[in-house]
Amino acid sequence: MFWKKKKDKDKSETWGKAARTGKWRSTKSLKDKLDRVFSMYIRLRDSKEFGFKYFRCISCGRVLPFEQADCGHYISRTNMALRFSEDNCSAQCRSCNRFKDGNILDYRQGLTRKIGEQRVTLLESRKHETKKWSNWELEQLIEYYSKETERLKKM
Ligand SMILES: [Zn+2]
Repeated sequence: MFWKKKKDKDKSETWGKAARTGKWRSTKSLKDKLDRVFSMYIRLRDSKEFGFKYFRCISCGRVLPFEQADCGHYISRTNMALRFSEDNCSAQCRSCNRFKDGNILDYRQGLTRKIGEQRVTLLESRKHETKKWSNWELEQLIEYYSKETERLKKM
């Protein structure tokens, strides 16, 4: 099929150009990297009171080993404006994060205890906010949270 071949060719040319200009390293991989380092920072921050060995799930309140912590978002992580917000993220057990849809009602209670009603309401008011991160901003955040993570690990 002529059209299909042409399409494939176009794709590879785009890829080639992206590789040459370094653009392939762009937004998606930076977001992935920031997701990883930010998640580590949140889990370390929230296990500090337990000597980094345990954490308390923001939703169900169980204290579990650090290895079982997820970084759970209160407002869905699909909201890019709040994806890397410290108020919007907490250590959460896997069962609440992955199988109970974030256990969101209990999450709200736990978060209110943690940061107060006002800051929770403020997060909720930003629920429909949109944000397009520039690569530069993502790089700055990666650098910042990498340093913070290292600082906590040394404690
Ligand atoms: Zn839980």
